[in-house]
Amino acid sequence: MSSRTECETLDRKDPFRAHRGHFHVPEGVIYLDGNSLGLMPKSAPTRVADAISRQWGEDLITSWNTNNWFHLPRVIGDKISPLIGAGSGNVMVADTISVNLFKVLTAALALKRERKVILSDSGNFPSDLYVAQGLNRFLSDGHELKVVAPEEVASSITEDVAVVMITEVDYRTARRHDMKAITKLAHDKGCLIIWDLAHSAGAVPVDLIGADADFAVGCTYKYLNGGPGSQAFVWVHPRHHASAEPALVGWWGHARPFAFDLAWEPAPGLVRQQCGTQAILSMVALDAAIDEWADVDLLALHEKSRSLCQLFIDLVEGGCGKHGLKLAGPRDMTRRGSHVSFHCPEGYAVMQALIAAGVIGDFRAPDLIRFGFAPLYNSHVEVFDAAAALTEILDTRSWDKPEFLARKAVT
Ligand SMILES: *Cc1c(COP(=O)(O)O)cnc(C)c1O
Repeated sequence: MSSRTECETLDRKDPFRAHRGHFHVPEGVIYLDGNSLGLMPKSAPTRVADAISRQWGEDLITSWNTNNWFHLPRVIGDKISPLIGAGSGNVMVADTISVNLFKVLTAALALKRERKVILSDSGNFPSDLYVAQGLNRFLSDGHELKVVAPEEVASSITEDVAVVMITEVDYRTARRHDMKAITKLAHDKGCLIIWDLAHSAGAVPVDLIGADADFAVGCTYKYLNGGPGSQAFVWVHPRHHASAEPALVGWWGHARPFAFDLAWEPAPGLVRQQCGTQAILSMVALDAAIDEWADVDLLALHEKSRSLCQLFIDLVEGGCGKHGLKLAGPRDMTRRGSHVSFHCPEGYAVMQALIAAGVIGDFRAPDLIRFGFAPLYNSHVEVFDAAAALTEILDTRSWDKPEFLARKAVT
């Protein structure tokens, strides 16, 4: 079992020490929810203030050209590319994951018109499943969403599946699919594959080109720290750039938006995945956040992620095992993302008590307490202190109070 001093030693050797200083950490807080909303980069307020006062206030509409607003979706997309092995020119930020998923799902189904099945798994984020359900209801022509257990995805990829649509890292258990192997199985059966990287980007190394995937979507407000509601990203393999036509189209994806033609004509390549005007103030904050990733070595990042997660698992199992906590997801660290969840009786109240003690994680129904370890800024000492706080709360039953038992709207 590690001591706090050993954790301090590990932190002194942390290759990302300098990055931690670039984020605002509120006084007295141990923040373990970077997998839901990342910390604020210290550069964000200055960059957004400039976008408001100078760019919007003074430069006004000329900013679309002079401050490059129009091209931000692709400029930021190119900065995200190395984090997901995307190749250059294949990533764009816009809209939300749900909206981008709708775009690539419709594009993929249109490429596989002879097949009607969308395959997903029960570990997927519900919104992803809702998008497919809503689309199928609208199409009402026999399209079907088939949801299987995560372990059954591989054996359920059959020749009637049009699109395999799955999230790499399970938002609850952190179980990680084998992207390369599943993509190959999908292609062997003639299916297309869409990966959701919401809990992967900025947490584990991703190699979309290496895995030969078809489409991907992902989140920027989680591990990438883009700020509340920052635009999601969408990736399309270059082999589909010319053929993928989303059902959700708009003037930003037109070949000549400022010709104002009455008929839609797709822009060449990825640009057609754009729909309409984006929230630029949010994009500017996101741009500041993505600049933090310019020099990040993803293998070192992954190594640190595994070290933080393993330490937390060891400490919690050592200190809290007697209280009925049970690790969710696999033990093999190569098969996990960068968060750790425990099944915990009275987990909601336990998490509320922990938050009151300054350790911020979250609760996911029905009984999971979840802790995100953002390798860019979390430290081993934080892990040690958080595990100690959790142990103390369980040992003393200090969670058993009315103010911790009452549920809030956002858990
Ligand atoms: C967070 C998350 C989303 C969020 O979708 P939005 O439409 O951007 O709100 C989608 N999918 C997964 C797997 C997520 O973890």
